[in-house]
Amino acid sequence: MRKSKVRFAPSPTGPLHIGGARSALFNYLFAAHEGGEFVVRIEDTDLERSRRQYEEEILESLRWLGITWTEGILEGGDNGPYRQTERLDIYQSYIHKLLEQGDAYYCFCTLEELESERQAQVQSGQMQRYSGRCYGLSDQEVKKRIEAGLKPSVRFRVPVHQIYVVNDLVRGTVSFESDNSGDFIILKSDGIPVYNFAVVIDDVLMGITHIIRAEEHLPNTPRQLMLYDALKFARPEFAHISLILGSDRQKMSKRHGATSLIQYRQMGYLPEALFNFLALLGWSPEGEQEILSREELVQAFTLDRVAKSPAVFDMDKLNWMNQQYLKLKSVPQLAELLRPYLMGSEWTLKLSQLDERRYHLLVEAVRDHLVCLADITNEAEVFFRQVEWEEGAREALSAEGAQTVLAYFHDGLPEFEKPEEAKAYIKAAVKRLHLKAKDVYMPLRSALTGRTYGPELPYLIMVLGREECRRRIDQARKLFG
Ligand code: GLU
Repeated sequence: MRKSKVRFAPSPTGPLHIGGARSALFNYLFAAHEGGEFVVRIEDTDLERSRRQYEEEILESLRWLGITWTEGILEGGDNGPYRQTERLDIYQSYIHKLLEQGDAYYCFCTLEELESERQAQVQSGQMQRYSGRCYGLSDQEVKKRIEAGLKPSVRFRVPVHQIYVVNDLVRGTVSFESDNSGDFIILKSDGIPVYNFAVVIDDVLMGITHIIRAEEHLPNTPRQLMLYDALKFARPEFAHISLILGSDRQKMSKRHGATSLIQYRQMGYLPEALFNFLALLGWSPEGEQEILSREELVQAFTLDRVAKSPAVFDMDKLNWMNQQYLKLKSVPQLAELLRPYLMGSEWTLKLSQLDERRYHLLVEAVRDHLVCLADITNEAEVFFRQVEWEEGAREALSAEGAQTVLAYFHDGLPEFEKPEEAKAYIKAAVKRLHLKAKDVYMPLRSALTGRTYGPELPYLIMVLGREECRRRIDQARKLFG
């Protein structure tokens, strides 16, 4: 049996979107599951909107996500070039073939002519499609016009009364009538092919066996099938995966928050969490398990478990999943992942004054509160900012006994080696002062942070260090004493 080969073919007209990343991932998982090959090529025929910068960003986002491929721009391969604008002569030869076969023809219609044709069709209630006006032009006429400097486009002659059937591996059997499509342009007058044409040539020459892509390309499929047939190419398998909807069941858009992978990366979602999350967006393995490693996903991934109905992007689930993957990180690993977020924040200076041991304790103190890495800048506030007292903290500091607690800690606080020692010290203080635990914790925490909630006290004390703790306590004694 022929080895499976799939491709991801982004257009570099913007950053990699969640939907694109999911298509890439499904292709990757399919290829890995089948022991097949995976091509990433760039569909940059939209010259106005394509940018090299986006191309680089898209590839970088894929790599970050942990997706790898065997053929591509940097990887090379036997079927390159892998950028469509570098394949123009290849397309040209197939355009000629279609012209020679009589399956394509030159079209000289101007935009104005096409528009007035369309208007007339609208007015008479006809279906809007190209009338085929240039089909009848003689070779001589075509030659004359080209010699006169006119630049024609090339149109594909759509066969009449044909039914095109796709046995889509996700959507089942879908049929299209050829009569619904007018003769369509395959090569624009500037010599650039349109997507529907270039995609067919590339998929065939690159030996693609399965086309796994977004559902929005399903309406393009009949035109592609017409080209497969006209060029006598064997058709590949198709699998069109469903749309991704926001939680309000509307098509995922900027309104729903971040839509590009880069934004999630910047917020500090872990690539392994997104990998897992995206895999479950429209696909599910057998059983209930939701946290699955890359190997488990590869092992379980088959197209017959891809859902027909739209997938809903559930932010709460992504958050939960990210927290699960954050839990798997060791403190030193997490400390390194968090460092860039702190370094880029208002806490840069404070962080550089913190020794490694205390930084790790800080990370340990807040790690369970992090949903994503960027949350660290908020979580670190309590260690780094000037203390400002919230209402509850003011009350706690003005309560009876508060000053005794502050005096006790101010005068006696030693430098601790471990959080356990600080914990034991606080416990002993409760006993010595004959107070309820809460009446010790509250004023102490309020003095140290200005808040009545936050990281565990022993960690707080250790990260701040003896001197800073005493300074903060002193400040509170003066203000509330
Ligand atoms: N370049 C197309 C896109 O970015 C991909 C088309 C395809 O996969 O056939 O949507």
